[in-house]
Amino acid sequence: MPERSYLDWNATAPLREAARRAFDAALSLSGNPSSVHAEGRAARRFVENAREEVASLVGARPSDVFFTSSGTEANMLALTPAIESAAEKAPLKRLLLSAVEHASVRSGGRFPRDAIEDIPVDGEGRVDLGALAESVARSARPLVSLMQANNETGVIQPVAEAAAIVHAGGGLLHVDAVQAVGRIACDMRALGADLLTLSAHKIGGPKGVGALVRATEDIHIADPLIRGGGQERGLRAGTENVAGIAAFGAAAAVARREREAESAHTLALRGKLENGIAAISPGAVIFGAAAERLPNTTLFAVEGMKAETAVIAFDLAGVAVSSGAACSSGKVQPSHVLAAMGVSPALVRGAVRVSLGFGTTEADVEMFLGAWRKLATALSKERRGIAA
Ligand code: PLP
Repeated sequence: MPERSYLDWNATAPLREAARRAFDAALSLSGNPSSVHAEGRAARRFVENAREEVASLVGARPSDVFFTSSGTEANMLALTPAIESAAEKAPLKRLLLSAVEHASVRSGGRFPRDAIEDIPVDGEGRVDLGALAESVARSARPLVSLMQANNETGVIQPVAEAAAIVHAGGGLLHVDAVQAVGRIACDMRALGADLLTLSAHKIGGPKGVGALVRATEDIHIADPLIRGGGQERGLRAGTENVAGIAAFGAAAAVARREREAESAHTLALRGKLENGIAAISPGAVIFGAAAERLPNTTLFAVEGMKAETAVIAFDLAGVAVSSGAACSSGKVQPSHVLAAMGVSPALVRGAVRVSLGFGTTEADVEMFLGAWRKLATALSKERRGIAA
């Protein structure tokens, strides 16, 4: 058995070796990518090579990739009324969000509160396309933000269908692809995304680097979050995080090459994991199980379980899992995703997320199942004790 079993890949993935090498190589550079001398040009090459890799990961042109400090910053940058095109310069008036978006999208970016509208999801966590169509029809040229796959459940959204609705209504679509990229096909054009958010650390790059990608050069964000020296073609000032960006590019290249093999690998292990959970606790609920999901994610609960207790018990047994989204961990908050899916508060409180990745092994899954068997037995004894 391994010493620890890390099964929290949706929170962050371990750094890929290729990313570490690129990071180290870039750290040794002395130049600033904006400088014209040879040292500067060497640093620039690292940034531009990474831009090409990130672009090809999502089927975009390098000139449409803008590096940021995180997926969160890319989401904040995208969610603004000030998105212009050659034909349209007037500010966007409404922001439509699915009820299961990540907290950084749910914050609404730079839209005023009263301009933001929630689009409901069904019991599996898929956006209600009928409700989306109605809201789009009511809002002249809205910005719609819909994630490609959910960080808690792994449920995949019908993004291309949503894009058709949004575009027919004259709106723009932003897609948060942070959890999807590297796990399922993520092509800007096939998705119909006008803007797309990525984060390096979910694909084996370093934490603290992200990107906002636009579909065409006709999309222009007129109010950058950070102004200054004009880096990232004026959209994100500040000397580039050259090492982080280079490592992001290296991780993107491997993620693109290995996606299908890695996804098949995690899907097989996830099957074992879910069969194991069902065999140990037949009453366990796997959220979003009837929908298309990422191949690596399982969010489950049993009646009477408290997620925070379970996560601590797993940790003591050497298994790292989480109680839903990583951002709020430390303080466990009830999941807005499960609440939006209509899950009972009792089950919501018990939801534990297990997420796998390219480095996960059978032994990791066995270690998890061993810990779960003990925990589930203790839980059912406790419940019998209460019933007696
Ligand atoms: N969007 C989704 C769906 C996420 O899961 C996360 C991170 O958990 C983010 C955005 C934020 O990315 P970052 O951690 O790079 O800020």
